[in-house]
Amino acid sequence: MRTLLTRDPDEAAAVLRRGGLCVLPTETVYGLAALAYDADAVRRVFEAKGRPSDNPLIVHLGEAAEADEVAHVTALGGDLLRAFAPGPLTVVLPARPGLPPAVTAGLGTVAVRVPLAPLARAVLRSTGPLVAPSANRSGRPSPTTWAAAAEDLDGRVDAILQGPPTTVGLESTVVDATGDVPLVLRPGAVTLDALEAQFPASRAVAAEAEQTRRSPGTRHRHYAPRAQVHLVAPGDASPSGDAAWIGLSPPPSGYALATVCPDVEAYARQLFDAFRRADAAQLSRIDAEAVPEVGLGVAVMDRLRRAAAG
Ligand code: AMP
Ligand code: MG
Repeated sequence: MRTLLTRDPDEAAAVLRRGGLCVLPTETVYGLAALAYDADAVRRVFEAKGRPSDNPLIVHLGEAAEADEVAHVTALGGDLLRAFAPGPLTVVLPARPGLPPAVTAGLGTVAVRVPLAPLARAVLRSTGPLVAPSANRSGRPSPTTWAAAAEDLDGRVDAILQGPPTTVGLESTVVDATGDVPLVLRPGAVTLDALEAQFPASRAVAAEAEQTRRSPGTRHRHYAPRAQVHLVAPGDASPSGDAAWIGLSPPPSGYALATVCPDVEAYARQLFDAFRRADAAQLSRIDAEAVPEVGLGVAVMDRLRRAAAG
C-alpha cells in the first residue's frame, strides 16, 4: 500500500470518510485513526499495528457533547468532560450499543476523549467519532512526530497527516467514570493532583492486578525501544559509547547520546523520541534518570518502568 503524506486536514478527513486509515497528530501522541463505527476499518487498525485484540480503543470526538452518542454519560463522566475536555483526559463510560465489538474489547464500557490539537479537531469535525490508538507498531514507543509514525506504519496505512511534534508526549490519562469517584487507570498529563482539585475522592488503581483487569491494554508490553532501558537513581550515570542518557541532570561525558531535560514536562515530551533516537543509533542501553513521583512525574515513571520491564 502506498501511504499518502499530506498537511491538509480536509484530505486526511476524506481518506477516513472512505473507510481508510490515517495517522493524525493530537496533543498527546500521534494516533492511527479510523471511523469508530466502521467495523472493517477498525479491524484494519488492529492489523496495521499488530495490536492484541483484547486491547480496547479510545473513541475520539470533536466535541464533548458527542459522548452521548457513543456512551451513557454518567454524572461523574459529564463533570469530568466539562472540567477537562478538550484535553489529554480519556473517560471510561458504559457503552451504548452499536460500536464494533473490537472497539470495546467486549468490556461493556467505552473510553472517550476530545483532543485539543487543532488538526485533530479539524478532522474530527468532518468525520465524526474516530478510534485512534497510538500510531506505533504494538509494543514500540508511541510516536511524537509524524516521522516516527511513518517509521512504524509507512506502507501499512492509507495516509499520514503531517503536523507538529506533540506538546505532551505521553498518552492520555485514562479515568474510569462508571462509578462515583474518578479512578485513574493510566497516569498522564491530567495529573491526580489536578483531578483531586475538583474531585477530592479521586484515586489511582492501587494494584497492578486491578489495573490490568479494568484496563486490559496496560497488561501488554509497551513503550519499549530495542535498547535495554535502565531506570537509574538521580545522578547515577555510567557513561558508555554504546549507551544513551535521558534525565533532568546533565550526565558526565562519555554517552553516545544525551537528552537533558530542563523540567519534567520536557522529559515527558522528549522521552519517546529519545528512545527512538537511541534505536536509530543502534545503541544497546538507555539510562533513564528517575524523577520524583509527584505531578507529571507519576506518568513519566509509569512509562519508564514499563519500558525497563520490556
Ligand atoms: P492507546 O490508544 O494505545 O493509548 O491505548 C488505549 C488505552 O485505553 C489502553 O490502555 C486501554 O486499556 C485503555 N482503554 C480503552 N478502552 C477502555 C475501556 N473500555 N475500559 C478501560 N480501559 C480502556
Ligand atoms: Mg498505545
